[in-house]
Amino acid sequence: MASSTGGDVAVAAPVSEQQQQELRKGIAEFYDESSLMWENIWGEHMHHGYYDTDAVDVQLSDHRSAQIRMVEQALAFANVLDDPEKKPKSIVDVGCGIGGSSRYLAKKYGAECCGITLSPVQAERAQALADAQGLGDKVPSLIVSFQVADALNQPFPDGKFDLVWSMESGEHMPDKLKFVGELVRVAAPGATIIIVTWCHRDLSSDEKSLRPEEQKILDKICSSFYLPAWCSTADYVKLLESLSLQDIESADWSGNVAPFWPAVIKTALSWKGITSLLRSGWKTIRGAMVMPLMIEGFKKDIIKFSIITCRKPE
Ligand code: SAH
Repeated sequence: MASSTGGDVAVAAPVSEQQQQELRKGIAEFYDESSLMWENIWGEHMHHGYYDTDAVDVQLSDHRSAQIRMVEQALAFANVLDDPEKKPKSIVDVGCGIGGSSRYLAKKYGAECCGITLSPVQAERAQALADAQGLGDKVPSLIVSFQVADALNQPFPDGKFDLVWSMESGEHMPDKLKFVGELVRVAAPGATIIIVTWCHRDLSSDEKSLRPEEQKILDKICSSFYLPAWCSTADYVKLLESLSLQDIESADWSGNVAPFWPAVIKTALSWKGITSLLRSGWKTIRGAMVMPLMIEGFKKDIIKFSIITCRKPE
């Protein structure tokens, strides 16, 4: 797995076509294998929850509300408006999982939403859930559809969407420049782009990369979660600036997601968790085994949970 992290190199780290293909295959298989288990225990949102920074003793039902809060907080941070004239009408959910965000956003705004994922199992399940909720094709302005497609080569025309949403998928992207380039390409003039993603800490001006012991932790997480080299929040901001995007804002929400991984580990160690893990397969078990490293990474300030938002110029 590539592990370069410094400055401009990180966001455009050269990864060969063959490496990219292997990564796409690994991601697809990982989510094909693990998504049903996740859904059975955690529900339709495959992302962190947003908590009060002093939250203690959170119950599973509170975690599910915290995941909805994450979506709402991201929309509020990006200043996405509910106003009938200004609310989004056409949304893309890049790296959609089983479509938790897609369906939520489509219902909230009465909008059309297109989700893409690398996992055929996820795309099928996402569509089945949408169809079951009457979002398949009943109301034309509110159609929620899913397909298997690569975020780095999206099957959409330029300027199609007025809200571009990427919830915890950016960390899987081997070429951040191409990733952001595609988000911008499919965005309509004036559209809002929201990226919620895992980053490594910002580097200081005299650092070219993370320290070896920090990098070692990320490398272990990378190989089990099918992630390429990480970049920092500052790298994303630089990238968006270089593309002349407007109203670029970012924030570190690491403190607001702290209860999440301990809770995931607790459910994985429950009877239901262990039996589901064993039934899911090796990739899922390997993923579960590195979860404590996520906690360590956050505690040591190596990992940051970041939101980065901007607007495409009119
Ligand atoms: N956003 C979802 C799922 C997050 S899990 C949610 O919050 O519930 C990460 C998702 O990113 C998975 O669905 C995975 O298939 C997708 N993904 C990773 N790399 C991708 C790529 N290159 N193109 C499309 N989707 C990708």
